Amino acid sequence: MFSNIGNKIRVLAKVLCIIGIVLAIITGLGVMISGCMMLGNRRLVGPGIGMIFGGIIVAALGVLGAWIGSFVLYGYGQLIHSVQNMEAKICGNETPGYDGGNSAFAYTAPITSNGGGKTCPNCGASNSEMSHYCEKCGQAL
Ligand SMILES: [Zn+2]
Repeated sequence: MFSNIGNKIRVLAKVLCIIGIVLAIITGLGVMISGCMMLGNRRLVGPGIGMIFGGIIVAALGVLGAWIGSFVLYGYGQLIHSVQNMEAKICGNETPGYDGGNSAFAYTAPITSNGGGKTCPNCGASNSEMSHYCEKCGQAL
């Protein structure tokens, strides 16, 4: 659930950034529309124009704020991601299961490359020419 948290934080940063930008634009548009409505009344033309410009500023600052704010969160996610990568490289084993599978493969590879032996019809393991039964699964050869 919490594996690869660095990637999750980066995705969260992107989502929050998009939500912030959308909210800023909606708020700015709302203020601008109110300003436009005020233009219909001659007495309110001045404040209406002010509201329209205010709306533009609200939208611009909101978008900028959401964008810059996501930098911090995204950077944090990037940092965790990098540290996890470094950790995996230094330790050499990401998961014990993967390492086990890898070493098992490394063990069987030289035997199969030997040639000349008997290949088990049951499990495919290579056995020496002399053996009557598979060393791995016991199948008669
Ligand atoms: Zn076998």
